[in-house]
This record gives sequence, structure tokens and C-alpha cells, in this order.
Amino acid sequence: MELLNVKNLNMVGKKVFIRCDFNVPTDEFANISDDRRIRSAIATINYCLDQECAVILASHLGRPDGKVNEKYSLAPVARRLQQLLKRDVALAGDVVGKDAMEKVGALKEREVLLLENIRYEAGETENDEELSRKLASMAEFYINDAFGVSHRAHSSVEGITHFFDNEHKAAGFLLQKEIQFFGKLIENPVRPFAAIVGGSKVSGKLEALINLLPKVDKVLIGGGMAFTFLKQMGYNVGASLVEDDLLEDAQHIMDQARKLGVKFYLPVDVVAAEKFAEDSVSKLVSVQEIPDNWMGLDIGPATVRLYGEVLNDVQTVLWNGPMGVYEMDKFARGSNKIAHFVADSYATSVVGGGDTADLVQRIGLDEEMTFISTGGGASLELLEGKILPGVMPLIAEKV
Ligand code: AMP
Repeated sequence: MELLNVKNLNMVGKKVFIRCDFNVPTDEFANISDDRRIRSAIATINYCLDQECAVILASHLGRPDGKVNEKYSLAPVARRLQQLLKRDVALAGDVVGKDAMEKVGALKEREVLLLENIRYEAGETENDEELSRKLASMAEFYINDAFGVSHRAHSSVEGITHFFDNEHKAAGFLLQKEIQFFGKLIENPVRPFAAIVGGSKVSGKLEALINLLPKVDKVLIGGGMAFTFLKQMGYNVGASLVEDDLLEDAQHIMDQARKLGVKFYLPVDVVAAEKFAEDSVSKLVSVQEIPDNWMGLDIGPATVRLYGEVLNDVQTVLWNGPMGVYEMDKFARGSNKIAHFVADSYATSVVGGGDTADLVQRIGLDEEMTFISTGGGASLELLEGKILPGVMPLIAEKV
């Protein structure tokens, strides 16, 4: 699949709107804990600056649900960008309001303006045409470099592309790189191919799990999502995270795996805690012995050993979602151990998703992975063989 290339745009001295994905994880002090997504966008931004462009950047951060909320301001991102670009980055006080429009109007060549959190506008996630039109009116060129959000048909990702013809829009370098990498991975993965899937809920990854099954040889489940499967299997999971409305879907996934001959692994033990807190009393228990009112917050050592064995012969591994509440040291061990297995293996290792990339980076293993994708949901959808809504309008027509 060939995408419209930034290098083919004739944009010297023009205004360019770049949709980035600066949705970075932050620590308990609200500091950026992993700036990979910001660093990954620098190549495209610098290219545009070298073309003497006036650069307008847009991104979301977290889920402010269409309302202005200081907590989700892009101010820390603007500061980090400033350091990385070694130049001033102005931050607009809003997205398409008076301040943003005035700053856009005054923006000169080789200057950089970051709009406030695009999700302060309720229309963004609704792919609102009016919002897309306003955003598009800011620039003569549009570039999408936000791989992590390209699976969403949002105003600044999809809607906006309709206001630019093929000579005025393109995929940025990061988007190109991600799409190319996953294209090759789906075409011809070296087998055995394992997917390690964790994170909080089944709901976010349900479809991805179903669609991944025909493509992989093994699935290893961890994180909060494991408990919906375990409950469906008849275990008492105490107060662990469970999505009761998805029990049937969980059964369907397990049935499908069996039908397709995919080895489907669930944790055999967990670190259980009395409450969701770092200072909680905790103990190691088998999944058959989770006490009532206790919750499983990490995979246990027996599961770590089992998963280590299972990963031994694997040639390609895709990892999406932490094995436990890795943000708390006490429940990070399972994820860290799995990260070491993946890093030490000679398999092609692909890590996807902000949290998983963050945890791998926290323990200094990021350089050991073959590829760290800036998109979790987006990379899963690519592996399902879908064409992402943000990418579709950027496909170059075949001549
Ligand atoms: P997701 O965004 O669905 O990939 O989920 C990532 C989040 O899942 C992280 O913030 C983890 O803290 C959380 N998580 C992982 N394991 C568990 C668990 N056993 N119980 C509750 N939350 C979990």
C-alpha cells in the first residue's frame, strides 16, 4: 500500500497542519514518563521547518470528553517539544477559538504553534464536519503523523482530509514507517507467531482478539482482562476486574481458539491484593484460590514461568497491554519479567501501545525490541488486516 508522501508536497513557505499523537503517559507527578511519541514526530516537523513552512501542530491528550480541563492541557508537551526542536513552540489557549485563530493568522515561516488539546472540542471524536472545516482553514497542507489515533475517524484525523486534494495532503514519516512495518508483518510473519495481550479490559480488545486468532499460533492473556475469561471458566475471581456482559464473548474467543488450533493461555496464578493501592496487603495465590473481595493485580511467578516456556520457540511476538498494574511497583513484576523474556528472545519482537511501550522503556529494554509502535489499538487493527480510517484518504492512487 503506497501512501501520499510528504516529500512530494510542494509546500515551501506555506502553512502546514500536522496531526500528531502527543498522547503521552505521565507519572504520579504529572511529568511525561515516556516521550517516545513526541520524539517520533520530530522528523516530520523538522522536514516541514526545513521547507520554510509555518507549522501548526494538533494532538489529543487523555480523554477530556469535549470539555476544557487543565489536567489535560498540552502545556507539558509544548515544553518538551521546545527542548527537542530547540526552538520556541507557542501554545494556543484553545483549539479553534479566538486565540488559536489569531495565533494561526500571525504565524510566520519557520514558526511552530501547538493548538490546545483537540479533544477539548466535543466535535473531534464525533468527526464533526464543521470542526474539520475550521481546522482545515488554518493551513494549505495537511499531514497525518498520528499513527496512534489513525484507527479513529475523528475530525482532525479523517474529516479534515476531505478538505485537501492529493497534492495538499500526505502521511508523515512516522505514519509511513508504522504502516510499512505492519504491512510486512502481516504478509509474512515468521512462525510460531505469539500475541501477548494484556491491559485492563476485554472490551477494548475484543474484536482485535477475535480477528487475531486466525493469524497467530499462540495467545497469552494477562492483565485485568484475564479475569473475565477466568470467571467464564468457573473460577471465583473475587473482586478482580470483570466485565460480566462479556462472559459469552470470552467463551466464544476460547471456542474459536480451540477450533483454529490456536494455543490460548491464561494466568495460572496472580498477585492478589485487598485493595487497588500500592500499600495494600497482597499475596500470591493460584487462580483457584483468589479470596473473596480480593483482586488480582498482576500475574504470578508460576504464570511468568509458564509464559517463558511458551515463548521459548516463538519467532515473532506481538505484545499489547501490560500483565498487571505496572504503574505500581508492587504489581509491575509480572510485566517486567515478560519484558525480559521478550527482549532476550531472538524473535522479532513488536511492542504496541502507550502503556506497553512505557513499561518496556521504564526498565531500559526499549532498545532490545525489534519495533516499538506508537499505536496500540491502531497496530492491532492493522494486524487484523483493516485499512485505518485515517490512512484510507492518504492512499496514493495507482497510475
Ligand atoms: P489498556 O489501556 O486497556 O491497555 O490497559 C492498561 C491499564 O491496565 C494499565 O493502566 C494497567 O494498570 C491496567 N491493568 C493491568 N492489569 C490490571 C489488573 N489486573 N486490574 C486492573 N487494572 C489492570
